[in-house]
Amino acid sequence: MPTQADGTRAPGPYHERSFYNPGWADSRARFLIVRLSPFRDVERSAPHGFLYREMRAAMPDAYIDFSFFPASRDRSREAVDGVPTMRGVASARPAADFDAIFISNAYTLELVNLVPSLAGSGIPATRKSRELAEAAPGGKVRYPLIVLGGSNAMASASVYDEPSGDSIVDAVYFGEGEGAVGALAVAIAGLPAASRRDAMPGIGSEVAGFWACASRGPVSQAKAIQDGYPLAPPPVFAGEEAGTVRLEITRGCPSFCTFCFEGWERKPYRETPIEAVLAEARSLKARTGASTVELASYNFNAHSRIVDIIKGLHGLFDVVNFQSQRVDILARSPALVRFEIAAGKRSFTVGVEGISARARSYFNKELSEADLRAVLGRIIGEGAREIKLFYILSGFEDGQDITEFSAFTGWLRAAVAERPAGSRPRVMVSAGELIRMPFTPLSYEGLILDPIPYRAIAARLKEITGHDGFEYRSPESFDEYCLSQVLALSPPGSMALLLAMAGHGYVYDRSLSKGAWIFAKGWLDARDALGATFIGEKSRDYPFAYPFVRPIASKDVTWERFRDARAARERHSCLGASCAGCGACSDGERAFLEAHAIDTVSESDMHDIEAIVAAKRRPQELYIRAALSRASAQAHPAYAAAQFLCGLYAVVPSIVSVVWRAEDAFLASSEGLERLPGAWGDTCYRLLSSKPLDVATLETAGYVVVEQAPAPERVQIRIYLPGTGLSDAVRLVSDFMTAAAMPFTLLKTAGETRFAISGKGLRKRNVLEAAVVAECVAEVPTESPGGYSIALACGPKYDLGDLATLAAKRRIALDLHVALY
Ligand code: SF4
Repeated sequence: MPTQADGTRAPGPYHERSFYNPGWADSRARFLIVRLSPFRDVERSAPHGFLYREMRAAMPDAYIDFSFFPASRDRSREAVDGVPTMRGVASARPAADFDAIFISNAYTLELVNLVPSLAGSGIPATRKSRELAEAAPGGKVRYPLIVLGGSNAMASASVYDEPSGDSIVDAVYFGEGEGAVGALAVAIAGLPAASRRDAMPGIGSEVAGFWACASRGPVSQAKAIQDGYPLAPPPVFAGEEAGTVRLEITRGCPSFCTFCFEGWERKPYRETPIEAVLAEARSLKARTGASTVELASYNFNAHSRIVDIIKGLHGLFDVVNFQSQRVDILARSPALVRFEIAAGKRSFTVGVEGISARARSYFNKELSEADLRAVLGRIIGEGAREIKLFYILSGFEDGQDITEFSAFTGWLRAAVAERPAGSRPRVMVSAGELIRMPFTPLSYEGLILDPIPYRAIAARLKEITGHDGFEYRSPESFDEYCLSQVLALSPPGSMALLLAMAGHGYVYDRSLSKGAWIFAKGWLDARDALGATFIGEKSRDYPFAYPFVRPIASKDVTWERFRDARAARERHSCLGASCAGCGACSDGERAFLEAHAIDTVSESDMHDIEAIVAAKRRPQELYIRAALSRASAQAHPAYAAAQFLCGLYAVVPSIVSVVWRAEDAFLASSEGLERLPGAWGDTCYRLLSSKPLDVATLETAGYVVVEQAPAPERVQIRIYLPGTGLSDAVRLVSDFMTAAAMPFTLLKTAGETRFAISGKGLRKRNVLEAAVVAECVAEVPTESPGGYSIALACGPKYDLGDLATLAAKRRIALDLHVALY
């Protein structure tokens, strides 16, 4: 992000208004929400947005910022420049300036990045070292309090060292945060300044699920205490997902798969009423300018009103995406596949998990071979383009299991072949090693950290799928599986391992640093941490990590389910059936689950969805002039389009339910980005809607409606060259004009260098007039003061793509402003 001449950070896509922040100095408290993965990898996920909404609703006067783990290239550059690893994307302030850091931990391997993030931000890596530093004479040092939560919190025990009581973070939040995170933020902001650390454990009595690491528990995993959605709008980030909102329609999981972390950690299954879902969808659309909605629930098709929800969302949004669904529900609701295909779904992800009936019983998958084939037959028959089959390998699969798998893929090949050539789905098979997650039945199972049994099974599956014409993938490397497994169950010494790994520079960024597992294994072996007690099958009273955490589902039931799994005894889900006594429900929740009925699709539903989707192929169209800001031009076009719609909806709310999407029809269109790269200034949006928009209403609101996308005869362009000298500026334009066969003569006067373009050059109708002028425009962000600008008048064939490429090669920063009207 550029810096202005006065040393302050220039406004970029994440200027403070993006997150509704007060001024830094005026804020009541300052919170940094941290993801331990790079932005590109978590852009599509919702937890950090959820955290923000909860905190913002509770504390409108807090400064809330975000930080993402820097991607590899940025890490190297920032290390050289001394930039802190964790810093706010809006404030650009280092993590150490905040009052508290909320880490949203989504999966176990992310924890490898925790210590490097702290160390790279000048924050001591353990709680006790921070306390010591703060207690030093003078008392000038004050580090932010660090709270870890998120879907991996129950498997985050490697951040805590039980024998010493030390920890990497200051507190952990276990469980669902709906209705609690805001109260937690308020409680942290209210801690007495002089004794915040001492007072921290007291928050546990106000906020269920909160555990200050300085205390030894016990703590109960929290269940959402709020049914509705957070009141604050979600943050909009300047990435390609800016036009997508994620909407949770159900909470928790009704299944009891023995391997599944979410199935045990997120209980019970709950539904948001359709009225609240659709109201929230409309509100999200109005407040973010989104045109795509994605159902963010584990098992969206379990919702008892899923058909009406999909229809309702399709009426509101241009695109409705839904992915994670239960296969057994597809089997029991036969027309659902056809409905989903009619609603635009083309790719189906099917979690088969076990390669045979026996393996599926072990996983308590409740999926018979007959149901699996019936569902896949429907998916293929209805014309899906892609089928992804996910499997989990326990390492115990034998020849009989593999023979059964082979019979299945043979059947699948024949089923696919029945489709006409050209309309057959692409089939991908993915099989990963089973991680025995804590608090699940299979946490008691023995571990296999030896690649040989897995490799033998995977090799056979790959051979079989390849023979049947399908693609085969392994989702992660064996090293990553091993480290995930070990950290998830956290043998003694795991926290010291994380510290040691950070000391050797190991991180996880899409893959684990080379040699990380070999180092970790050697380190743990040297301390005898991977002995038979940890690796072998565990007894009922095995001392698992986080022994003081009371999970939402009873440990007795978890143990019983392990015994069932070993005996291949499947137990039914309580969805629409009787309670199995896991202990997660209130009376009302139990009654809801027992009475639950899955949704079905009528002919009228099919007719409705087909009509909505058909209408989207014939949208109403209208063009509106707009200004693309410099900050938005730096971001993905989806961000600018969402910002434009957001502004439009704010002044003309009546069109929220009618407009499907907006797309830039000039500067940030694909052609515009090629011909005028990175330009800001006058542009135009194409609006697509289900009904004609009232032009008079738009004009009254101050918008200028035009008949078509701009096809200008003349474009005024000013290119600011911050920090570039006259000779470099003239050479840049000269070389560009020469390469583009636009001969010219240079005319130098006191204030400018003019390019008199020959007749041959003018006939190209690209650059018509050009001059380099001495000009330092005050509002232009600049790394160094001074500079020149290029004033251009271009014809209808304007194209400055090569000029931008040339400037990039010469490391000349361009700031390109376009005026049309
Ligand atoms: S308490 Fe009973 S009804 Fe509720 S999730 Fe557990 S098994 Fe199902």
